[in-house]
Amino acid sequence: MYNVKSMDSNEFIDDGEILESISEAKKLVKDQAEIDRILAKARQYKGLTHREAAVLLEIDDDETLEKMYKTAREVKEEIYGKRIVIFAPLYLSNYCVNNCKYCGFKCSNKIGRHKLTQEEIREEVRALEAMGHKRLLLEAGEDDENCPIEYILECIKTIYDEKFENGAIRRVNIDIAATTAENYKKLKNAKIGTYLLFQETYHKPTYLEMHKGPKHNYEWHTEAMDRAMLGGGIDDVGIGALYGLYDYHYETIALLMHAEHLEAVAGVGPHTISIPRLLPAEGVDYESFPYLVNDRDFKKLVAIIRLAVPYTGMILTTRESVDFRKELLEVGISQMSAGSSVDVGGYANRNTIDEEGLEEKPQFNLADHRKPIDVIKDLVKDGYIPSYCTACYREGRTGDRFMPLAKSGQIKNCCHPNALLTFEEYISDYADEELKQMGQKMIDAEIQNVPNEKQRERAADYLRKIRSGARD
Ligand code: SAM
Ligand code: SF4
Repeated sequence: MYNVKSMDSNEFIDDGEILESISEAKKLVKDQAEIDRILAKARQYKGLTHREAAVLLEIDDDETLEKMYKTAREVKEEIYGKRIVIFAPLYLSNYCVNNCKYCGFKCSNKIGRHKLTQEEIREEVRALEAMGHKRLLLEAGEDDENCPIEYILECIKTIYDEKFENGAIRRVNIDIAATTAENYKKLKNAKIGTYLLFQETYHKPTYLEMHKGPKHNYEWHTEAMDRAMLGGGIDDVGIGALYGLYDYHYETIALLMHAEHLEAVAGVGPHTISIPRLLPAEGVDYESFPYLVNDRDFKKLVAIIRLAVPYTGMILTTRESVDFRKELLEVGISQMSAGSSVDVGGYANRNTIDEEGLEEKPQFNLADHRKPIDVIKDLVKDGYIPSYCTACYREGRTGDRFMPLAKSGQIKNCCHPNALLTFEEYISDYADEELKQMGQKMIDAEIQNVPNEKQRERAADYLRKIRSGARD
């Protein structure tokens, strides 16, 4: 039944094909020559099929895992270099009509509910801007009455309209419930960056058991990206699975099938892949989830996704701890959130007791509580270049104009100098003396590594201008 081009999600995410891939993989993983062949193919930066990835998912010995991590590091460096894109989530509303078993916002939770007013959004954006953020990911529960698409559109406009001495929010990405092609068109016209929607679980029986409310409809949810890209004309979409709901082998293979499907029908695969891992939350019986993924397996699947979809931006959030984030950066992550709040109005510290005296609660409990400036310092210490660049989006390098550059590894020729220049802007506007010293030392050294002489001179020229007060 497996048909990558079918528009029926039960066919492009074919349960039989996934189970067969797992069973084949259990045999093939014993064949060292096959593993070497797959890793050699991955090293060509051309990606892997879900069948090949299934074999890597079965690896369990430390020596082969280390070999794979080394390959993942090489692939990531080849495509994206050392830059790490920084962003923050912004929670607009916690009203939700769904009862997803794992989520603190589920409707059966008797918590305070609120949606930000436009003035409150401006306050949040001011607080985020004061931390140096230029890219936001808007989040909201699903509720057509309290949080209709018109409200989301109004919020996007408010955010883009807010201007500051140090610039503005330059890219607004959106993570809201699956919707109609017509609504996706409206989001595109509002100039969103990426539309993200996590599948949560690709395993249909688990999906149906986890979700009550409109989200219960597996097909509507799984086919959302087809509607967004083909119906709504959205160029960049981001997919992901919530690890911990079902077997991670199954989820990763299905996630890769989803990426193959989007590439086959829309001509471009996912712009980003997120790998959220289940965390404790209000009213969630965390220990009762039988498929929680441990750190060892999680690191393995991150590396495999990097090898299988080398061109994609891989996103890590503050759901993961400081030390583990470092490990994951090495094997594939290229974008991360910093200083996040998963409360509605959490940045400007608004009052979170609602009119009925109920207290609002975060969507889940975060693991990394560092301030953005401390995240940035740690990145620099580990040799990464924090990037606030949004040039691709602003210059129309999205969708099928972005992908060939990413696939050929040319994108890093744009990313590398742009990351350095936006980091220099960040230093000028937000850094303390410690970060200024180590950051500028890194920038001065890295600018010499821009391979093309003309580009190098241009970047050095911009750098001088920023240091003397000019802004993009
Ligand atoms: N409400 C929309 C939806 O469900 O598609 C928008 C996204 S929701 C605000 C953001 C994401 O948080 C969900 O897609 C889910 O994967 C994740 N999430 C929910 N509960 C979580 C938990 N307990 N731990 C980690 N991630 C969680
Ligand atoms: Fe609502 Fe999204 Fe949470 Fe489900 S995951 S309860 S849809 S906010």
